[in-house]
Amino acid sequence: MSNATELIHSIPVDPLTGAISVPIYQTSTYVQDAPGVNKGYDYARSNNPTRGTLEDIIAKLEKGTVGIAFGSGLAAIDAVVKLLKAGDEILAVDDIYGGAFRLFTHIYEKFGIKVNYVDTTNAENVFNAVTPKTKLIWLETPTNPTLKVSDIEAIAKIAKANACLLCVDNTFASPALQQPLSLGADLVIHSATKYLGGHSDLIAGLVVTKEKELGEKIKFIQNASGAILAPFDSWLVIRGIETLHLRVQQHCRNAQAVAEFLEIHPAIDKVYYPGLKTHLNHDIAKKQSKGFGGIVSFTLKNDTQEAATAFVTSTNYFKLAESLGGVKSLLCHPAHMTHKSIPAEKRRAAGVADSLIRLSVGLEDVEDLIADLEQAFVKLESEKKNYAFQN
Ligand SMILES: *Cc1c(COP(=O)(O)O)cnc(C)c1O
Repeated sequence: MSNATELIHSIPVDPLTGAISVPIYQTSTYVQDAPGVNKGYDYARSNNPTRGTLEDIIAKLEKGTVGIAFGSGLAAIDAVVKLLKAGDEILAVDDIYGGAFRLFTHIYEKFGIKVNYVDTTNAENVFNAVTPKTKLIWLETPTNPTLKVSDIEAIAKIAKANACLLCVDNTFASPALQQPLSLGADLVIHSATKYLGGHSDLIAGLVVTKEKELGEKIKFIQNASGAILAPFDSWLVIRGIETLHLRVQQHCRNAQAVAEFLEIHPAIDKVYYPGLKTHLNHDIAKKQSKGFGGIVSFTLKNDTQEAATAFVTSTNYFKLAESLGGVKSLLCHPAHMTHKSIPAEKRRAAGVADSLIRLSVGLEDVEDLIADLEQAFVKLESEKKNYAFQN
């Protein structure tokens, strides 16, 4: 079965009515026949059929057993961290999503959970940094925003050997390109806000577990803590997933063309895209994923926040906004935006330079996107000349 067919038919027809679109059960509670005698649903924080359908779909797409849908990607991450207890440690990828860093540092450290960061692109670093206290290895691959790729299979082996869990944030790749559970991970999380939703119209998060027992633990945490996804937003994610395969293919094609354009541009210092042969982790990206995704980052020769600001305010089709993975192209300046909660030295050490710009390459015609970038480079160059002239 091809991926697109599997994906489209993972979305069930409603058994009650034959509705081809998943029904939205907008209810808080369910009438019981007698106390404790019900149709499998008692209260909508615990269970909702629309949310349940999304959870089954994502579990199938990620080749796991249990899916759990949350009110945001961060709520999904939060639920995974709640598997741990005081004294436990997390070993995390150094180029981590800013919000995950903030959650780990400003919320969980005070509860006695310590996080160590390593460059996970070299599995040996992970091997050397694991301690008996490490209970969770946290990967993002590709990372945000420098698109570093880590070897999931190799790191899963290290996790197994040390009796700790491996969780992969699969937001950038999506299950259309990469399935970490098949490579040995125990958990996958998603910000479904991005490619799964795909239309920049909701905030949602997902967890998928390989084993049923671990899934039941996350479900318990969710019911106890309460960060569920609403029925309508569950439906929106399902609707997004219907076209995931097609969208991701086009995101990949467009991003590859944009990355190749940037690679030879005179104003550019570095381009980060796993689909470029010059990318440090190109081989492992090729081995473990079916494509290289829609995110491209680059730094300017003029490596200043001022130049980056001038660039990100000069484009027309690339809209300046946080987030990614939608139909419309976006760009952002991580040092100022998504990564401003990370201290400057730490941010630069993880490769997020002052002028680094991240593109979320959308589904427009790629010639128009390239022309948009080119006119922004021309503007940047002429501003530089004006400035030199005035001085
Ligand atoms: C956006 C994002 C998150 C957080 O998800 P929200 O839905 O915004 O809470 C986590 N990880 C990655 C890689 C992201 O891009």
